[in-house]
Amino acid sequence: MRIAVVGAGLAGARFAQQYRALGGQGELTLYGAEERGPYNRVLLAEVLAGRYDFEMIALPYGPGVELRTGREVLALDPAGRRLLAGGGDWTGYDHLVLATGANPVLPPLRGLRGAGGLRPGVHAFRTLADCARLAEDAATAERAVVIGGGVLGVSAARALASLGLPVEIVHQAPHLIERQLDERAADALRGALAGLGVVSYLDNRARALCGPAGEDPAALGRVTGVELANGYRLEADLVVLACGVRPRTGLAHAAGLAVRQGVLVDDRLATGAPGVHALGDCAEHRGRVHGLAEPAYQMAEALAARLSGADPEARWTGARTLSRLSTGPLEYAAFGESGGRAEAEPGTDVLRLADPTRGTYKKLVLRGDRLVGGILLGDLATVGALTRAYERDDPLPDDLLPLITTTRGARP
Ligand SMILES: Cc1cc2nc3c(=O)[nH]c(=O)nc-3n(C[C@H](O)[C@H](O)[C@H](O)COP(=O)(O)OP(=O)(O)OC[C@H]3O[C@@H](n4cnc5c(N)ncnc54)[C@H](O)[C@@H]3O)c2cc1C
Repeated sequence: MRIAVVGAGLAGARFAQQYRALGGQGELTLYGAEERGPYNRVLLAEVLAGRYDFEMIALPYGPGVELRTGREVLALDPAGRRLLAGGGDWTGYDHLVLATGANPVLPPLRGLRGAGGLRPGVHAFRTLADCARLAEDAATAERAVVIGGGVLGVSAARALASLGLPVEIVHQAPHLIERQLDERAADALRGALAGLGVVSYLDNRARALCGPAGEDPAALGRVTGVELANGYRLEADLVVLACGVRPRTGLAHAAGLAVRQGVLVDDRLATGAPGVHALGDCAEHRGRVHGLAEPAYQMAEALAARLSGADPEARWTGARTLSRLSTGPLEYAAFGESGGRAEAEPGTDVLRLADPTRGTYKKLVLRGDRLVGGILLGDLATVGALTRAYERDDPLPDDLLPLITTTRGARP
């Protein structure tokens, strides 16, 4: 059996590794458009901050897997079960796994693009190549603005601050990382960021980038500031765009696969085209695209179990998702119904524990004796036990305190 995996990112690499670990004997080829082999994108901020190098974020992809880097797959022929990779000929497959990830969303800002692409000093932050360009630019920059205060924006801001740059975040929503954190957790995070030299402007929208015209009339000169919708201007010679991502579906769409926001898949991660599956950030499952590492891993594991024969009935029914950012003083994890809205549902209990002096905040959201969501900020010692209970939907013990308190680092 020949399996072609398109996309050597988190999901593609985990699929390949698990497929082999579960005894899959097929001939497996992993196509990656990037120059380097698979790496953990979640840790790119650590690379930007100079704490990790490529070797430390490289991901395993299993023995006997043929990795083809710098080889973008350009076209698919699902009816003929073949694909065309850059610099090659049409190649046949029995199963195809689309794991093409997502592209950064570029916001509609005046002065964002010149003739040759983004204005000088302006960066997206998705790939190792983006990271290298950003690090090079940051070495001589004086002030940075990050547009977007979600997981990615906060991660980029923290890394730039650790390089000694003053950083400002502009975020449209009333609090940071509003999809995963509630207001109190986000406030604690904002305070911790301020301690690192990152100022957050919330409920604010960037509307234009400022800077001179370039020497070439079609080009733009280096960015000098960000104009907000309220007319206020932030000075900056470095701007990072962290305004969300959009599933990378061009290849699937051109091949006639069903695409809405992402490539449509069912619980078997099947697209409907013969032998074609999709997983990770490019997939839309039960009306949702996830854009997070944990669901990407879970989908990859379910499909690997299925195609390797270890569990031919394996399905992924979706989202008991965890989003985790674990870096130094800004460690947090959030899972399930963690935002403010869940608390309003009848029959919901909320347990909170906040310790401003230690900079920790913990919240468990419960329905009956089941955990339906939670946030841990600043102390993740019990994250394993909590997420296990959440993922397995286990009944919780009567005494919840050990699940939310810890002796690790506790003061006498
Ligand atoms: C800086 C940063 C921080 C993040 N932090 C977190 C976090 O704290 N927590 C969290 O849960 N998530 C986080 N994420 C999101 C997480 O990285 C993604 O959800 C995850 O990478 C999705 O995995 P994937 O394999 O679907 O896509 P990707 O990892 O994007 O991999 C897709 C790969 O496919 C390749 N590709 C695309 N098209 C083709 C083609 N036609 N041919 C060949 N190759 C192709 C791409 O080049 C890419 O290498 C972060 C993302 C970034 C960028």
